[in-house]
Amino acid sequence: MIAGLMRRFPAVLLFTLASLILASAAPAQQASRGTVAPRLDFQAVGAPLQPGPVDPQIAAALKQVSPQRIRQDIERLVAFRNRNTVGSAEKNLAPGTGVLAAADWIKAQFDGDSKACGGCLEVSFDDSVVQPEKAGFGGGSPRIVQPTPLRDVVAILKGTDPVAAKRIVLVTGHYDSRETDVMNTAGLAPGANDDASGTAVSLEAARVLSRYKFPGTIVFVAVAGEEQGLYGSHALAERARKEGWDLEAVLNNDIVGGDTTHGDRLQSKRRVRVFSQGIDPSAPLQQIRRELITGADSDSPSRQLAREVMAVGRTYLPGSLDPVMELRLDRFLRGGDHYSFNQEGFAAVRLTDWRENFDHQHQDVRVQDGKQYGDLIKYVDFHYIARVARLNIATLATLASAPGVPRKVRVITSELDNDTVLRWDPPQNWAQPVKYQIVWRETRINDWQYGVDAARFPGGTPDSVRLPISKDNVFFGVRACTTKGICSQAVAPVPSRK
Ligand SMILES: [Zn+2]
Repeated sequence: MIAGLMRRFPAVLLFTLASLILASAAPAQQASRGTVAPRLDFQAVGAPLQPGPVDPQIAAALKQVSPQRIRQDIERLVAFRNRNTVGSAEKNLAPGTGVLAAADWIKAQFDGDSKACGGCLEVSFDDSVVQPEKAGFGGGSPRIVQPTPLRDVVAILKGTDPVAAKRIVLVTGHYDSRETDVMNTAGLAPGANDDASGTAVSLEAARVLSRYKFPGTIVFVAVAGEEQGLYGSHALAERARKEGWDLEAVLNNDIVGGDTTHGDRLQSKRRVRVFSQGIDPSAPLQQIRRELITGADSDSPSRQLAREVMAVGRTYLPGSLDPVMELRLDRFLRGGDHYSFNQEGFAAVRLTDWRENFDHQHQDVRVQDGKQYGDLIKYVDFHYIARVARLNIATLATLASAPGVPRKVRVITSELDNDTVLRWDPPQNWAQPVKYQIVWRETRINDWQYGVDAARFPGGTPDSVRLPISKDNVFFGVRACTTKGICSQAVAPVPSRK
């Protein structure tokens, strides 16, 4: 190969080519007048971030994810014919059909997992009643017109560490479905992609992770009422807030079926979108102002969670599935259950197919002008869902093994200088040793680029560090990690004078 090249190109040309490639790979190290220019401050400290270490237990868990089981789950959910939440207030549904029959079946799956692990899961219905609405979504027609029972199905894998067990990570999908008419409980509403696929992710995650033990608690959920107005997730998020859950992360899988439509060349089965809220529109005005002024609008807890999903993807699914950060709460004209958790102050993201086919969602099953409409199982790709399930499982397991997020993270802004002083409090509900990793990125970049172990810096304390990097040119985050390098999501510092 080299000899062949040498025959065709003179050595000088090759040398020039190699120099050009090297120069473009490391622009900061361009030589000028024979001397090597110093690197930029944010490159001179620490190192480009590498994928985190693979935890053998998590790697073993991922191998157990089964596309065949996911297929069976979706086939079974579709067989309930119509899982519209409104149906739970109706008495005349055919036996074995409807949303409540689906809830019974989902609970039976969690109960089965629990039996297999010697009762490791606490499985329950989380019941409430939705009162009739005055108006529906966006002021439209009401989608609940009579008191309607709402049944979320919840399975809790309690953490094994008495302190860390208070920390919770949660995965959810909605098991209700709909037709074109969101009130119709009579027709066929298979909801294979929206959202039997997300429900199947919760089920598969419970099945796989219940075979292992983690310090922190993992909650597996299937909610109802999404299509009527996010009712099931709202009820659960409100409960989490009222009961004071230390809920660090919510992964909402909604439409992760990898829609496969003949002739669609723009679908990608290697990508999954991760939507997250930036600035919280319901935050106090003073906080919103501060975030806008300091450019912190892409460093919300939900954005940090999305970055954590990216990091987990790089560690456990390289070449298999790329999570892609979408810097918005959700798609246009659509909402999802992660928003219910955001509204109660929790970090939550939404995972969704790279490309949706709107003929295969929220549509009556029919053939019209030769085109098939409806959310049918034939458009679902079980291998794609399995990859999404692996991403969820790896994220849940990582976060349930990590120390939790550092608290009161702040960047000290008491004087004008080109250093950065960061201070933080340790995570709550973690009694084991903690290492801190400081991560940063240029302000024009969206994902973390560089990192350093805080303890490597002289003059630092266990909960502070001074870095010779200008805080004006980068965004920082602080992550808490185990001694084996399993880290929680980063927390962005808030400006502080002390
Ligand atoms: Zn949905």
